Amino acid sequence: MRKVSLYEPDLSGNELPYVVDCLTSTWISSNGEYIGKFERAFADFVGSAHAVAVCNGTVALHLALSALDLGPGDEIIVPTFTYIASVNMIALRGATPVFADCNKDTWVIGRADVERLITPRTRAIMAVHLYGGVCDLAELRALADERGLLLIEDASEALGCSWSGRHAGTWGACGTFSFYGNKTITTGEGGMVVTNDAALADRLRLLRNQGQHSARRYWHVELGFNYRMTNIAAAIGLAQMERLPGLLQRKRAIAARYRERLQQHDVQFQARPAAVESGEWLFTVLLPDHLDRDAVMAHLGECGIESRPTFYCAHHMPMYETRYALPKSEEISRRGISLPSHPLLSDDDVDEVCNRLISAIGQYTAGQAARVRFA
Ligand SMILES: *Cc1c(COP(=O)(O)O)cnc(C)c1O
Repeated sequence: MRKVSLYEPDLSGNELPYVVDCLTSTWISSNGEYIGKFERAFADFVGSAHAVAVCNGTVALHLALSALDLGPGDEIIVPTFTYIASVNMIALRGATPVFADCNKDTWVIGRADVERLITPRTRAIMAVHLYGGVCDLAELRALADERGLLLIEDASEALGCSWSGRHAGTWGACGTFSFYGNKTITTGEGGMVVTNDAALADRLRLLRNQGQHSARRYWHVELGFNYRMTNIAAAIGLAQMERLPGLLQRKRAIAARYRERLQQHDVQFQARPAAVESGEWLFTVLLPDHLDRDAVMAHLGECGIESRPTFYCAHHMPMYETRYALPKSEEISRRGISLPSHPLLSDDDVDEVCNRLISAIGQYTAGQAARVRFA
């Protein structure tokens, strides 16, 4: 049986020769020419003045929050429906995550749900763009400006995504990206912080490298970290950037095919407002509420198709447990499944996933009806 995996990176370009170049030249650590080249290519692609490469997407968030001096006593508004790193890095800084519900149709946060959470202690809004969806960055930027707040974007899943033609991650003080193996481009592990602010870029670089003075070795002007990316990782990243337009084109075609094949069926798609151009990171649908999601995923698994459930809400996790109800996020968290979305999928693979999903939904719905009838 053919296995259709949720994600596989396409490493068939210059990844291998560039890595071999690192090994043969012995530039395998965090000096070396690929780091600057990867940062430049990335900044140019997203349209930011500066890009600072780091060793994963989680520390990209921690570095950004650190460089912006966010910490104890500060409240940061963040979606509860997100990957846990967005929330954890706020808590690790000693700041307080304040959980916002998301929009019912786009699954990302918007102005109304954020605005009502602003208090005198609020310092920042962390917008997270999930699965290929993009927050309304024009309205969030306007809200942040009106209320004197920082806008930070966790754009880990949003490479190739823009709002009104401006790339996600470039609308606020800074934006972060992840290059984990299942992200739109990968470096194995890796991340990036982008900003248009030269002083902030300098501070990010300083903190990335142990707070070491840029001209005076072993003189540390403040408490920093080792969040550096290796030249090997950057070499893979540069090769991935060379092929990014093609990867995005394929991912968009896959998403369009899913939408076309599934539109007559009982699943709900993530809405794409007209201002959004999506990089279609991970194609995700909401199943009908009466269906047992685990049963549908198990059925797909038996057919060799990997899928995954949407994130749990952070406000339900033991570290953050709160009593508020955030019903739109809770529903999306309960009903969503992500389908195989990597650029190496063939059209036949996508059709196979759709057929199996449609039959799983049909079987399970029929089973429910039968049980009701014969009860
Ligand atoms: C992947 C991801 C991260 C973390 O990235 P890592 O590189 O795995 O540390 C953070 N936020 C979101 C929304 C992500 O999807």
